[in-house]
Amino acid sequence: MTSHFEIADREAMNAGRRLLGKVAVVTGAAGGIGKEIALTFIREGATVVVADLDRDRTAAAARDIDPSGERALGLTMDVTNEEQVEAGMSRVVEAFGSLDILVSNAGIQIVAPLVEFEFAKWKTMMGIHLDGAFLTTRAALRQMYRQKGGSIIYMGSVHSKEASPLKAPYVTAKHGLIGLAKVVAREGAAHGVRANVICPGFVRTPLVEKQIPEQARELGISEAEVVRTMMLRETVDGEFTTVSDVAETATFIAAFPSNALTGQSIVVSHGWFMQ
Ligand code: NAD
Repeated sequence: MTSHFEIADREAMNAGRRLLGKVAVVTGAAGGIGKEIALTFIREGATVVVADLDRDRTAAAARDIDPSGERALGLTMDVTNEEQVEAGMSRVVEAFGSLDILVSNAGIQIVAPLVEFEFAKWKTMMGIHLDGAFLTTRAALRQMYRQKGGSIIYMGSVHSKEASPLKAPYVTAKHGLIGLAKVVAREGAAHGVRANVICPGFVRTPLVEKQIPEQARELGISEAEVVRTMMLRETVDGEFTTVSDVAETATFIAAFPSNALTGQSIVVSHGWFMQ
């Protein structure tokens, strides 16, 4: 039998947890920004599905964020694959009975001058960033409409607002996510579903570590110059945005209690972009 002390302990532990009892799917959560969001959601009381490409990485990330195995599940899912998304999202609802938060975060970067950009690589970029957002959104909305509520968060970028050279498909797709979020906000409101975009500045994840030498090569400058003159020049303090800055923003949006915060894009970039 549960004692009064245990109940009191549990209540104290749960006090102030902003996502208590919520079920969240975070795509691209085996590493980088997605994994930090998943970890933060767990700390805030949610049950979290870590969706990513590789079975071992998703399982390892789920174990890292919740060693008890009670509130985190690894899900192998390529967001560009309609069948995998449909099956994966159905599994989430079967396993946990609801779906309250979708963070459409999976993403990659391919840099090249527009004049040389290979069409196949352009399509890969559109597939992951836009098809992935659409497919996961559509599957999530079905459940969110049934349960009359939910919050969808897209991982945009300062490149949802600004352009940089060499990033044509990334900038195009990240701008596109704002359009999708606005439509979801309009259609979803009647069903209690909100949609918003987080637009981070540069965050030192594998996605960015890979770009530094690539851009240095393309532009004929040093890696330090890429960081100083390309990535952080316009910030107010020369600082990278951190994974926890982004995870805190995701938690704020996910926990927001009403339709007042919907159809928005929130920039978290050390002032690189000010709107
Ligand atoms: P990351 O490379 O560390 O993580 C991305 C994850 O997405 C990886 O685990 C990868 O396996 C997964 N992924 C890739 N393709 C997938 C697919 N088809 N299906 C499922 N999962 C897939 O990168 P990150 O920096 O953490 O980026 C996460 C998101 O944040 C991306 O959308 C990125 O564009 C965006 N973003 C990153 C930065 C930054 O500076 N790092 C800035 C702004 C926005």
